[in-house]
Amino acid sequence: MSDACGTINEGSARPAIPLLGLTADEVRDLLPAGAPAYTAKQIVAFCYDGKSIGEMTSLPKTLRAVLEETFVSVPLAVEKVYASRDGSKKFLFRFSDGELAEAVFMPHDYGNTVCVSTQIGCKMACAFCASGMDGFRRNLLPSEILGQVVAINRLEGGTAKERAVTNIVLMGSGEPLDNFDNVLRFLSDVTRKEGINFSERNISLSTSGLCEGMRALADSGFKITLSVSLHGADDATRSAIMPVNRRYGVAEVMSAARYYFERTGRRVIFEYILIDSVNDSRDDAAALAALVKGFPAHINVIRYNEVAGKPMKSPSVRATEEFLARLSALGASATLRRSFGGDIEGACGQLKRRYKAEDGK
Ligand code: SF4
Repeated sequence: MSDACGTINEGSARPAIPLLGLTADEVRDLLPAGAPAYTAKQIVAFCYDGKSIGEMTSLPKTLRAVLEETFVSVPLAVEKVYASRDGSKKFLFRFSDGELAEAVFMPHDYGNTVCVSTQIGCKMACAFCASGMDGFRRNLLPSEILGQVVAINRLEGGTAKERAVTNIVLMGSGEPLDNFDNVLRFLSDVTRKEGINFSERNISLSTSGLCEGMRALADSGFKITLSVSLHGADDATRSAIMPVNRRYGVAEVMSAARYYFERTGRRVIFEYILIDSVNDSRDDAAALAALVKGFPAHINVIRYNEVAGKPMKSPSVRATEEFLARLSALGASATLRRSFGGDIEGACGQLKRRYKAEDGK
């Protein structure tokens, strides 16, 4: 697909330095001597609109040429877009070193959510997930995470001031808290008033349960929503599908989740992917309800989206309904989360694997 949102310096020997996410003061320090003071602010605004340096036509042509030798605005290119019948779209992005990662656009009646990736691949190796199947490649830079939001916002007809994207979830490929410093800088960049100005209340971060990171995020001052991928209410069930549970057991994860609530006042969300004959029994529902009892939390139950090459199966609709009814009868706040993009490899990491297989990449 053509490069629609500014991007990589094709043919350049050195990777270009991203401008997206820099403050006006940081941009000013990079400009040639004699550039007018307001130029830095203009560049910041253009970057958050998703424009390439070539499209910053109110800047002098000579300045654009100088900038293009060293910098890039949004450091990614759209490789492919897959549109689902349900209105969601998956974007496959290529970064300046050729790596690929996915982001998803999901329209809701209350706004539009973008789910972004924070790493290329993942170290956590959850048994049900496609993202970890090829191992970990690298962390994404703050500008590469922000670039996914800005690019999709532009492609969906928005600007930094008139946004098409209203909510962000850090729930794509990667474990965000394993890329802690870059994710924190991303949060700072995406909430900056003179940038795209997202409210912290409209941002969610999903973790597999890295307890030090959960506590550090609680202490960071950002009041975003924390989602904890539980997927098992006891250590045996959880360890069988999430190797990270051998490092941070269920009790420790719950303790870190309580700490997050106490520090931020934000209700914690627990994600529970329901997998046939793995974690969908009546006893599993009872153990889950007991775990969150007395804690201001909500459980998102998600029917497993089957992944090619994985033996796990989706539960039946009836089993899903029975699981939810049992949680509700036991007093737990729980809903079934709508699944998007079933016809376009909806689960994280699946699309990239299919694309690479098709193209022999
Ligand atoms: S579910 Fe999340 S944490 Fe687990 S392997 Fe996939 S991307 Fe990593």
